[in-house]
Amino acid sequence: MTGTTLFAIIIILIVLNFTKDKVIGFLNAKHFNDPIPKVLEDVYDKEAYETSQTYKRENYRFSSFYGVFMFVITILFFVLDGVALLDHLSLRIVSNSMLQAIVFFGIIGLVSTTLQIPFDYYHTFVIEEKYGFNKSTKTLFFIDKIKGILMTVILGGALLFLISWLYSKMQDDFWWYAWLVFSVFTVFITMFYSSIIVPIFNKQTPIEEGSLKDKLEKYAKAQGFKLDHIYVIDGSKRSTKANAYFTGLGPKKRIVLYDTLVQDLTEDEIIAVFAHEVGHYKKRHTVFNIFASLSLTGLTLFVFGKLLGNPLLAEAFHVTHSSFHLGLLAFGVLYSPISEVTGLIMNILSRKFEYQADDFAKQTFEQQYLVSALKKLSKNSLSNLTPHAWNVNLNYAHPTLLQRVLRLKK
Ligand SMILES: [Zn+2]
Repeated sequence: MTGTTLFAIIIILIVLNFTKDKVIGFLNAKHFNDPIPKVLEDVYDKEAYETSQTYKRENYRFSSFYGVFMFVITILFFVLDGVALLDHLSLRIVSNSMLQAIVFFGIIGLVSTTLQIPFDYYHTFVIEEKYGFNKSTKTLFFIDKIKGILMTVILGGALLFLISWLYSKMQDDFWWYAWLVFSVFTVFITMFYSSIIVPIFNKQTPIEEGSLKDKLEKYAKAQGFKLDHIYVIDGSKRSTKANAYFTGLGPKKRIVLYDTLVQDLTEDEIIAVFAHEVGHYKKRHTVFNIFASLSLTGLTLFVFGKLLGNPLLAEAFHVTHSSFHLGLLAFGVLYSPISEVTGLIMNILSRKFEYQADDFAKQTFEQQYLVSALKKLSKNSLSNLTPHAWNVNLNYAHPTLLQRVLRLKK
């Protein structure tokens, strides 16, 4: 193989990936006007249904435009020798190979984040605002962006530095050590996500005294789940959309309910959602997810290690010598067919876990309250009730509302 062939493969993969997203998006949009399934007819009244239809279309137009824009920028970057230019620039700014990797990806990250901000802004303050979802202010929006960027720079920068340093020391054997670093990092973040990352953006408070707390306590006690692991988060400062999740491991486990969820649902519906989250804990889904993601990381790093030293990389990008950062960039594209498959498997697993958590809620509480909670959450976020099957299979981490309701009622 020549460098030119490798470059052509990279471009073809980017085009194929873009085309796949376009086709799935198009198929999904073709089903926007499908009749609502019988069991979901009570989700929307006529007016809310019409609003949900325009919301879907508006989001589709927006994401299509964004997708095309990013695709054009990416293709131009590769075709106009942007890689060689950036490589040259990072070589001139710093001499150490680890720092070169940081400058190289730092510039790519800075440019892509800057390009993304106007789109995020439009989505939040035009689309979400128009449908009454947005609660964020412009100040909060930009503070969030700055915090997010700082966090990526610190965590991403540290990881990149460490991994490229390992490569400079170990060469071919580096993937083993890199895997170890990623494993420690993943377990650490999973454990401390709620106590370190979430507080940067949100406030979490123990549940207030009252009848809801009493009911939650009664249910939690019966399931052997301690009440001091339950928190309410101030999601309402950004959006009216509601959510709940289970996170963490061992003593750091936590079930977090959005304040919007507590506000929108009845007490029995909240217990039902809570029971679903306890199901995730009881079925050890976090532990499975960590194992699955660590196995995938191992596989990814192994393949990455095989590619890294290849001199074809430099040739493909018209650069004089290959380096860690060129390898990582090329790998990001070349690995996409494999990550497409592993992403598919992870989504299948995730949907299976959602069913298990629903089953748990059904067995330990009452299905009718989970059904009405899920319907209410869908209504309040103007969800698409008729997504295309391919879109669900490829991109959904949760089963559709229809699938969940049918199973709960069985
Ligand atoms: Zn769930």
